[in-house]
Amino acid sequence: MTQHQAAIQYNPNEQSTLSPQEQQTYEQAMEKLTSNLRGDVIQPGDAAYEAERKVWNGLFDRYPAAIVRCVDTEDVTAAVNFARDRKMTLSVRSGGHSIPGYGSNDGGLTIDLSNLKTITIDPVRRTARLEPGLSWGEVANTLQPFGLAMTAGDVASVGVGGLLLGGGIGWMVRAYGLTIDRVRSVELVTADGQMVRASADENPELFWGLRGGGGNFGIATAFEVNLHPGGTILGGAVFYEATEAERILKEYARLAAAAPDELSTEAMLALAPPAPFIPPDKQGTPIVGILVCYTGDLSEGERVVAPLRQLATPIADLIAPMPYSNIFALTEIGEVRGLQHHGRSLFFEMFSDEILHTLVEATQSVLSPETMVSLRVLGGAMSRVAPDATAFAHRDKQGMVLITHFAPLSADAASLAARTQHVFQALLPYGSGVYAGFVADEGEQRVRDIYPPATYDRLVALKNHYDPTNLFGLNQNIKPTVPVTLAAPVSS
Ligand SMILES: Cc1cc2nc3c(=O)[nH]c(=O)nc-3n(C[C@H](O)[C@H](O)[C@H](O)COP(=O)(O)OP(=O)(O)OC[C@H]3O[C@@H](n4cnc5c(N)ncnc54)[C@H](O)[C@@H]3O)c2cc1C
Repeated sequence: MTQHQAAIQYNPNEQSTLSPQEQQTYEQAMEKLTSNLRGDVIQPGDAAYEAERKVWNGLFDRYPAAIVRCVDTEDVTAAVNFARDRKMTLSVRSGGHSIPGYGSNDGGLTIDLSNLKTITIDPVRRTARLEPGLSWGEVANTLQPFGLAMTAGDVASVGVGGLLLGGGIGWMVRAYGLTIDRVRSVELVTADGQMVRASADENPELFWGLRGGGGNFGIATAFEVNLHPGGTILGGAVFYEATEAERILKEYARLAAAAPDELSTEAMLALAPPAPFIPPDKQGTPIVGILVCYTGDLSEGERVVAPLRQLATPIADLIAPMPYSNIFALTEIGEVRGLQHHGRSLFFEMFSDEILHTLVEATQSVLSPETMVSLRVLGGAMSRVAPDATAFAHRDKQGMVLITHFAPLSADAASLAARTQHVFQALLPYGSGVYAGFVADEGEQRVRDIYPPATYDRLVALKNHYDPTNLFGLNQNIKPTVPVTLAAPVSS
């Protein structure tokens, strides 16, 4: 139990930890909070509770005491004050795609930002103000008519809030960098209920920490960002039989690393889905997919992408010019909520032949319809930012792997976890750090692997300053080191 685990405990299978008197006081305080909000509060027994307590990763089945659905910064401040004063376990969620399911908890408060969805665009300055509850698909669709875009992740339903604070590695990472590289300022509600702004000029150290440090320092209620061209890209995927997977991936890694920044790519190993574009006799057989996004002159894009389309005889080639916002259709499977999702990830200095041999061998021994192993060749604009410019410091990493198994809840969870772990363990000796957005609940050492030691120490100093009692503790948690005398919880 953490120091913030609460006075309040709700679980339908457990007795309340509150005395009748405490329960009454809590309910009165909750009524007061509710009447002061512009948003609303969902509690056990409310019609919406069953749906609202759940998060994207179906592995996590948790019962918070209340979910505050905020609609503005004042709501967020009131909810933060409520949770802090009662020492409640606190979840914060925007899009709800936390892989370890941190957007819900047992017995505490969940602050839900999914209704903070305003986007304000200045097409002349090419800037925008994004609220955290927007999804990246919504952002892409809104910017598309302006010919603008914002480099983010590869799945449309992922939230602005969580992805941006972790870094943001997506379809245009080599051309326009990480999402954090385009942030001008962040509006934040801190643990003491203050609203602060962080930018290069205001609270610069906090601004540094927010760009990669996750939700450790407060609740972001808005981000001002620099946009970049979007428009029509050359995008899509080409699929090959995996009989020569190792050779194909080696050539992929070489070509993708040598390509101009305009080309960002991802490769994946999986069994061919029963999709209309896969010939019926190939469905269910092992495949290698190469996903591409070229931003820039389209005929030059065709030339740059061509070698990736000729690595063998394709079983399907879906690469074509398309509006940037359409590329998210390739990863629609990632949008499905409620599946159990087992994921492990690693960065690599680069993809050596030995790493790719190990990856193919380990994956082939576990491959099932639930498996998807993806590789990204990084570099480009992302790697040209100084490692100490933001809390995300793995700028030199050329390779990233994400091993996933996702399946309905009825599937054998232990087997899925073991197969994920098998590939992860095989690759671990070659790994070099990990991306915050893809870490599951893997313990303190793995959180430290997100940051080089000097970065971690700097984040601890920020945490000590902004959140010494670790109110924002359900995340890839930077533990504060200052001794704190905890006052008794407020009960009304
Ligand atoms: C299917 C899938 C695909 C993904 N693809 C990519 C990808 O291509 N590139 C990439 O970079 N990442 C990717 N990710 C990882 C993703 O960036 C993280 O899971 C991210 O945290 C999700 O953000 P969210 O807002 O949807 O999740 P949430 O669960 O809402 O938030 C995750 C955590 O972030 C913190 N948080 C969220 N909002 C706020 C806020 N406003 N203020 C303070 N703290 C906050 C909280 O600690 C919360 O627990 C993917 C994840 C999934 C599940």
